[in-house]
Amino acid sequence: MANAVLGIIGGGQLGSMLASSAKKLNIKTVVFSDEENAPAKNFSNEFIYGNYNNEEKIKYFIDCVDVVTFEFENIPFETLNQISKIKPVLPKPSINRIIQNRLLEKDLINKLNLNTTQYVSINKIDDLTVNEDLLPGILKTSRFGYDGKGQFKINSINEVENLNIDFKKEYILEKLVKLKKEISVILTRFGPESFEIYEPIENIHEDQILKTSRIPSQINKELTEKSKEWAKMIADDLDFIGTMCVEFFIDKNENLYVNEIAPRVHNSGHLTINSHNISQFENHIRAVCKLEKIPVKKLYNAEMINILGENIINYRKRKYLDNEFFFDYLKKEIKSKRKMGHLTTLKNQ
Ligand code: ADP
Ligand code: MG
Repeated sequence: MANAVLGIIGGGQLGSMLASSAKKLNIKTVVFSDEENAPAKNFSNEFIYGNYNNEEKIKYFIDCVDVVTFEFENIPFETLNQISKIKPVLPKPSINRIIQNRLLEKDLINKLNLNTTQYVSINKIDDLTVNEDLLPGILKTSRFGYDGKGQFKINSINEVENLNIDFKKEYILEKLVKLKKEISVILTRFGPESFEIYEPIENIHEDQILKTSRIPSQINKELTEKSKEWAKMIADDLDFIGTMCVEFFIDKNENLYVNEIAPRVHNSGHLTINSHNISQFENHIRAVCKLEKIPVKKLYNAEMINILGENIINYRKRKYLDNEFFFDYLKKEIKSKRKMGHLTTLKNQ
């Protein structure tokens, strides 16, 4: 589908980086966002502002594009499904329905006989009391959580009363894993048996928000192979097309657990823009637009740090060395803990 017009739903930094990669491949992009001043407006060929259930805007968007993808998983399933009746949506919308819900997501991983931490569905306070053996744990809203939003750390059952949990929402309770490390595996699936896969990336979180990602990750060969194998199994099972990420926990005894699946390009893969011949974004465009699959090759080791909130002001003023790459997401409003940009530093292999 050379010269196809690609529709991207969602206009944040991931949408921006997808649009930039598409431009490099001579693919025109139309971004559809529910935020009037979304960053991707600066990088796309056309920008449509509207609610994700605005029928008129959806129809117009469909008319403008040949194939549709998305930059985040929380787009209403109905919207994606409606679009997919007229134009291809990749990855397919049914994947989102599963991954938008932490319970269905974890059930799927366990169905494949892959490890997750212990978890249980929580709908009322009594569900917590009877599952006290999962404490200390983390209570998470089943839907619409990101960057640690909608999560409560619970050490003991006595703490529950003071947390003001809104039981109109659905939750899962996960047993806390004693973390040694967190890693992520990013892959791009072009079709059956057709993958490009990046080496595991080591991630450091602060307050449940990704702070630093680096390659190579300091893990043994067995964990490297196992995490890549598990990520492929998940992608195959979902019949996924495009770039996706699997986040993993490694505990103190070197056990591997799947934490979550992101059915899209991922923050931990930003370093691939500079460290590899083909970035996670370019690979996504190549897969969904059915362009040539080129083997990925690491050119450099790398470290990426996320720039949150007010910190962006200093980074905007700084001068950079030749091996440093600063990305400003051009967000109009600075908010505390909001991802405003990132810096990738390259290192020789
Ligand atoms: P989000 O959707 O916000 O990324 P995650 O489930 O990935 O949510 O949680 C964010 C971070 O919180 C994880 O990367 C990890 O550092 C920590 N965390 C979440 N769940 C657990 C757990 N069960 N045990 C230990 N740490 C956890
Ligand atoms: Mg996560």
